[in-house]
Amino acid sequence: MKVYDDENDFNENIFTVEKSDYELDPDYGWGPCHEGARELAQLYDKNKRIFDCISVFLSFILLFINGIYVVKFFIKFGTLTYSVLCGLCGILTADFLSGVVHWVADTWGSTDLPIIGKNFLRPFREHHIDPTSITRHDFVETNSYNFLVLIPVSVYMLWNFVTKSQEEIRSEYNWSLYLYLLGIFVAYTNQIHKWSHTYFDLPKYVVFLQKYHIVLPQRQHRYHHIAPHETYYCITTGWLNYPLECINFWSTLERLITNITGYVPRSDDMRWAQKGVRKKFKEKLINADTQTKEMTILKNRGDMLVNGRVPIKKQQEDLN
Ligand SMILES: [Zn+2]
Ligand SMILES: [Zn+2]
Repeated sequence: MKVYDDENDFNENIFTVEKSDYELDPDYGWGPCHEGARELAQLYDKNKRIFDCISVFLSFILLFINGIYVVKFFIKFGTLTYSVLCGLCGILTADFLSGVVHWVADTWGSTDLPIIGKNFLRPFREHHIDPTSITRHDFVETNSYNFLVLIPVSVYMLWNFVTKSQEEIRSEYNWSLYLYLLGIFVAYTNQIHKWSHTYFDLPKYVVFLQKYHIVLPQRQHRYHHIAPHETYYCITTGWLNYPLECINFWSTLERLITNITGYVPRSDDMRWAQKGVRKKFKEKLINADTQTKEMTILKNRGDMLVNGRVPIKKQQEDLN
C-alpha cells in the first residue's frame, strides 16, 4: 500500500510499507520525520534569521524605488517591442541562473564546509529529503538568499538612475529593464519554487501562472525530485529545462568536472539521503531477493539511491 503522497516520496521507495507501519513508526522514509531532515532543520539559527529579515527588508525597498524609476522612464523613452524582448531575456537569464545555482549546490560541496555548508548548502540537502519543508518556511526564510543577491544589483541600478543624465538613462534604458526583470525573477525564484510544492490554498493568480507555464509548473518540477535529483534544475519559469536536457547540458558538465577533479557528483546529497534508509527499510532491502517482485523493485530503488545516476526511463519501467 502506498502511504505517502508523491510530494514526500517521489521515488516511491516505500510504496510497499503498510499505513499502520508508518503510523506506529513515523521514523520512516522521506519528509519531516526523516532523520537527516530533522537535523538539517535545526541548523537554521537565530543569527541567520536576523540576517534574513534585514536582507528581505532592504531588497523590498530597493525593488520598490527602482520600480518607480523603471515605470517613469518607460513612459518617457520606452519602446514596447524592445522592452518586451529585453524583459523576456531578463526572465530567461533568471531561469538559467536558477538552474546553475541549483545544480552547483545539489551536485558539489558538502554541508561540512565552513560558512557555505551550513548557510548555503543546507537548504538544498533538506529540500531533497523533505520536499515539503519549504512549504512550512515563511516568506523570509524561503526568499532571503535570493533577495540578498538582489541588493547589489538594485544599488547599482539606483545609482545609475540618480546620477546619470537623462540622455545616458535613455540610451541604457533597455539594459536597465533587462536587469530589473532579471532581478525580480531571481528574487522570486524560491517563492515560485515553493508554489510548485504547495498543493492547497494557492492564490488563483498563482494557479493561473502555473497552468500557463509563466512560472514553474508543479508537474514539471516533480521530475527533479526523482532521486538522484540529476535533472530539471531550472526553477524560475522552467522554460530552459527541456532544451538543456536535450543537449545533456548538466551531465556533460558533470563528466567534465569529474574527469578534471575526481569529485563524485551528489556524493553529499546521497550521504544525507542515506540517513533515511533506516532499520526497517534496510531489513526490507536485505530480504528483497527472496520476497515479491515489489520488494525487488524496492531494492533496485535503494541501489539507485546509493549509487547515483540512473535513467528516469528505468524508473518508469519499474513502475509498469
Ligand atoms: Zn534539487
Ligand atoms: Zn523542489
